[in-house]
Amino acid sequence: MIRARTLRFRMMALFVVIVAVLLASSDFAFYLLLSHSVRAQLDRQLLVAAAPVARDIAAELNSHDVSELDAPDEYFQLLDGLGHVLQRSRNLHDTDLRMALHSADLTDPLFQDFTDPQLGSLRIALIPIPLKPLLLRIGMPTRDSEQVLGNFRAMGLVLLCLSLLATAGVSALYVGRSLAPINDLTRNAAETSSRVAHADARALWTPLIVRHPADELGRLAETFNNLFVRVDRALRQLRQFVSDASHELRTPLSVLQGETELVLSMPRGTDEYQATLRVIDGELKKLTHIVEGLFTLAMADAGELRINREPLYLNEVLEDACALVEARAKARRISIRRDLAEGVSFVGDEAFLHQLFLIFLDNAIKYSSPDTQITVTLATEPGFVQVKFQDQGFGISSEHRKHVFERFYRVVQAGAVEAGSGGLGLAIAQAIASAHEGTIECQSTIGVGSLFSVILPRTVRSKSSFEDRQRATR
Ligand code: ADP
Repeated sequence: MIRARTLRFRMMALFVVIVAVLLASSDFAFYLLLSHSVRAQLDRQLLVAAAPVARDIAAELNSHDVSELDAPDEYFQLLDGLGHVLQRSRNLHDTDLRMALHSADLTDPLFQDFTDPQLGSLRIALIPIPLKPLLLRIGMPTRDSEQVLGNFRAMGLVLLCLSLLATAGVSALYVGRSLAPINDLTRNAAETSSRVAHADARALWTPLIVRHPADELGRLAETFNNLFVRVDRALRQLRQFVSDASHELRTPLSVLQGETELVLSMPRGTDEYQATLRVIDGELKKLTHIVEGLFTLAMADAGELRINREPLYLNEVLEDACALVEARAKARRISIRRDLAEGVSFVGDEAFLHQLFLIFLDNAIKYSSPDTQITVTLATEPGFVQVKFQDQGFGISSEHRKHVFERFYRVVQAGAVEAGSGGLGLAIAQAIASAHEGTIECQSTIGVGSLFSVILPRTVRSKSSFEDRQRATR
């Protein structure tokens, strides 16, 4: 906050200084122009006042007696070629209008300032009389023009101060409003940092109010809002994932602990040890399954799910997966019907695809009643292949359907065989399909059954690479 304030004052001071320099220099230039034109105007007045007198002297010296002149604020002197005063107007009394410069062979009028203790400041013109060795000197007070210039100076100063005050006010308002989003951003960032430090469960980021979405600061605020919404979501997912994972691991671990404690509490017979070891083995398999699943998902999240792009026949991989679950399905009197297109070449990771198909087959067996059928279909379409797993099982309600691909999401199904993956199966299937740039669709009706369709885009490979591989495997 202190920094923002300092920046605000610095920006204000900069505005005020710039405006002060600009206004002062334009005022000064205007003042110079005005004083020059006021002076030129006074010089013109001197010439106008002197013209009839000079004309008369030029016509006839004695016809006009300069010493007779007595006009207010107009002082005259007639000089000879050496600068000696021949006549002076009556209002001059004994005062002499002296000039630093004068010359007998003057052709143009000469102007100078002069200050006299009695007459005050005067502007003087020395005008040569045409065709005569005489000079007419005329003086007029500069009082009026000084007053105009003085008024201008005073007004300029007042206006300058008022303009600077207005600039300071406007800039304070403008800079304050401009910096407001940055202040909000700083405050939010500080709150976020404190929430992270104190593991506060509230939303990480209080969205900034974007007043002007089109300007730079508005875009910055929106970018931060979007960024933190994502970070917040990712953090929540991570927390949820860690808590779900520890919850899932806790159950088999406590079973293991209970079983071992029980069996060790007193000497047992071989049968009892064997029975306990079977339970332990089952729980260890579950643990391994969960840990492997978590590892696959963690790799997928980090974008490090290494997919081997190798040429394979998808119908073969699917056939292998069906064969693997056949016995388990038979044990539950569930038949698996295959409708697989032949020689469906594909480029992908055989092990992962095998795992993908097993997940759907496993689920179809787990969530179906005995004496039902699972239909596996493999069809090729232009540019992609479609694998369908249709069962006549319990089905999934629409409320749960949108969540079944989430990690650890499970729907408790009456009659279902105990789950092995602990709610990770479909999340892993999704990760594997995505790694192959594929998608999964789910349709389901409660009491009728479910249909999972995997759509995998086909990468075209030369036929020979498949034939080479086929020859090598034979
Ligand atoms: P798990 O099977 O270990 O519970 P999954 O991620 O594979 O985990 O499945 C999530 C949930 O989706 C299951 O708990 C189940 O309720 C539902 N489900 C998945 N496949 C089917 C299916 N074929 N029929 C009915 N429900 C299913």
